[in-house]
Amino acid sequence: MATPRNRAGSVRAADLRWRGALAVLDEMRRAPGVTRAAVARRLGLSTGSATEITSRLRDLALLAETPAATTSRGRPTSVLTPHPDGPLVIAVDLRQEDWRCAVASLDGRPGIAESGTHRSRAPEQVIDTVAQAVRRLHHRYGQRVRAISVAIAATVQHGKVVQSAVLGWDAVDLAALTSDPRTPLLIGNDATLAGLAEARQGAAAGAASVLHITVEVGVGGTLVIDGRPMHGATGAGGEFGHLPFGDPDLRCPCGARGCWDLAVDGRAIARHLGEPPPRDPRTYAEQVLARTPADPAVRAAIGRTTTGLAHGLAGLINALDPAVVTLGGLAESLRAATEPQFTAALADGLMRFRRPHPPPVLAAALGRDGALHGAVVTALDHVLTEDGLAAWAALHSSRSPA
Ligand SMILES: [Zn+2]
Repeated sequence: MATPRNRAGSVRAADLRWRGALAVLDEMRRAPGVTRAAVARRLGLSTGSATEITSRLRDLALLAETPAATTSRGRPTSVLTPHPDGPLVIAVDLRQEDWRCAVASLDGRPGIAESGTHRSRAPEQVIDTVAQAVRRLHHRYGQRVRAISVAIAATVQHGKVVQSAVLGWDAVDLAALTSDPRTPLLIGNDATLAGLAEARQGAAAGAASVLHITVEVGVGGTLVIDGRPMHGATGAGGEFGHLPFGDPDLRCPCGARGCWDLAVDGRAIARHLGEPPPRDPRTYAEQVLARTPADPAVRAAIGRTTTGLAHGLAGLINALDPAVVTLGGLAESLRAATEPQFTAALADGLMRFRRPHPPPVLAAALGRDGALHGAVVTALDHVLTEDGLAAWAALHSSRSPA
């Protein structure tokens, strides 16, 4: 991104020791409400350095300090929280049925500001509605908004939507979601962003390699290594649902044959029950899962679907060797409904050497908010860089001469 550093010659990146500042802000982001003393301990900073950095960040409206409750043994310290006039990001979650717009400060907690249900899924109507909501928020917060980040149920390549089976879209330009060219627009696949959020702050926080799998309509996910999703050469990686783990006789709406997508969701359950393809496979699957205990035919259909999910997951574990697996959406519901079958099918698909110590398979912690959290994470990663902070400092000093 362009960095207007020259507008404030006295606040060049090097002068402000952005590296120390970034480390302190990362600590605040990881644990909002952390004390300055705890941050200094974690980063190995002297009390003097920590105080100097936090007071500089306070002057730049990047964090606020309030006195911490002191214990008889501890020295007085302060609690670090986002500054009330500090940078913000707008996060958008664009799903099959609805959309949400949220605003987050540097603590990364999205507050939903606007939301709605699609009246029509025609791309121009959806984009126009969401763009108006983004524009209202941008107008309200002005240049405090440092990035707009969109999570969408679509394949994203080179930062652009190229295809969405669930929305019924081909290539669609989302550029209208930002009306100010100075504000970066970041676009990511929803399942990838949900996996990123689970790896950074959810069920797998702290693990070095995390495989996230989620089922809504079809299956999506990502492999996150050291806190970064594996995007591939063009950004379109992680389309696990289009691995040929399904029935080779079935053609997927994506264009390929035999996709795993068709073997793990409400469409699969309906096929196994001999029922017509559901119009809304997600809701259909939830309704059938609610019937499970009573009906042996339903139990069998759910069991076959769970087996298809677990076998594919085993293949991915064999190939990718994750330290932790997280399951979101219907994937976790299917496992919970038929735990013994899931466990047996997973073990059956694992290479023999892996069976005694398979990676833990955990329920995703962020639920249906995972993608929105992931959009915020991506936006803050963009803002909390040396260039991002220098741009903010330049803006701040041009507004409020010291
Ligand atoms: Zn496919």
